[in-house]
Amino acid sequence: MGQIIDGKTLAAEIDKQTMTEVQKLKNQGVEPHLVVVLVGENPASQIYVRNKEKRASKLGIKSTLVTMNADISENELLLKIQELNQTEDVNAILVQMPLPKHIDAFKVTMAIDPRKDVDGFHPVNVGKLFEGKTQHTPIACTPQGIMEMFQKYHIDIQGKRAVVVGRSSIVGKPMAALLLNANATVTLAHSYTKDLAALTKEADILVVATGIAHFIKEDQVKEGAAVIDVGMDRDENGKLTGDVDFENVEKHVSYITPVPKGVGPMTISMLMKQTVNLTKWSI
Ligand code: NAP
Repeated sequence: MGQIIDGKTLAAEIDKQTMTEVQKLKNQGVEPHLVVVLVGENPASQIYVRNKEKRASKLGIKSTLVTMNADISENELLLKIQELNQTEDVNAILVQMPLPKHIDAFKVTMAIDPRKDVDGFHPVNVGKLFEGKTQHTPIACTPQGIMEMFQKYHIDIQGKRAVVVGRSSIVGKPMAALLLNANATVTLAHSYTKDLAALTKEADILVVATGIAHFIKEDQVKEGAAVIDVGMDRDENGKLTGDVDFENVEKHVSYITPVPKGVGPMTISMLMKQTVNLTKWSI
């Protein structure tokens, strides 16, 4: 039976540390300030944004929501970002994705000042991550949260075989870079990968981020592996579930994250921590 990695408890511990850091900054007369930009009325995005605002307020971080109509031009959004870049009291900027189709999301990401890029998606920050120059560099929050899990549970990375399934810019690619920086031997798999099971069965560390419910089965994992399930999927009954067939895989591994209460709670905590870090790095 694998040990379950308790993301909820770890996230709460990180929040506690963040609160202490916020207090220290406030004692110096500095209030960390996160600005979230929401374009349009996507219901899922509205929930995500609300959750971020709630968490910020709980931790004593100032947060401002900028809402813009779905039919604004790309230029209007770019001008708003420019304004936020130049506003001294704004430390962290997050543009909630997805954006309406007529707006180029990459252009928008590029427009954010890399020093205020709380998501860590700006190519300058991604480049620094891949160069292993991570000091004072914001890094994508989900993979960063997973690294915290490895640390907390004393899961050795150095010299280990790591396989990351899924190569998105928000999870798979930065995850692979972080593992590589930590001296794992990394394979990044995707939908064109041939004989995926042969790779996953060799993985000491397996991170799965495909968005396909129960994609990884028990015969695809190595005995004693550490398995991280990033997926937030819906099963046939509409229940939240992961990319890993938890019930059966759990019996074979040494560590595993559940869904929910695994990777999910860590992401928002890392976002808050990163808001505070950006603030500290700016003074
Ligand atoms: P994404 O952008 O849709 O990427 C999915 C990746 O999976 C792609 O790289 C795709 O390969 C790969 N893939 C699809 N089918 C595959 C197959 N049969 N074999 C191997 N690889 C395959 O997804 P994402 O944004 O990374 O999200 C992945 C999951 O994580 C989703 O369930 C999402 O909701 C969840 N998520 C959770 C958090 C959190 O905080 N817990 C954060 C972000 C995402 P190609 O590139 O070849 O298409």
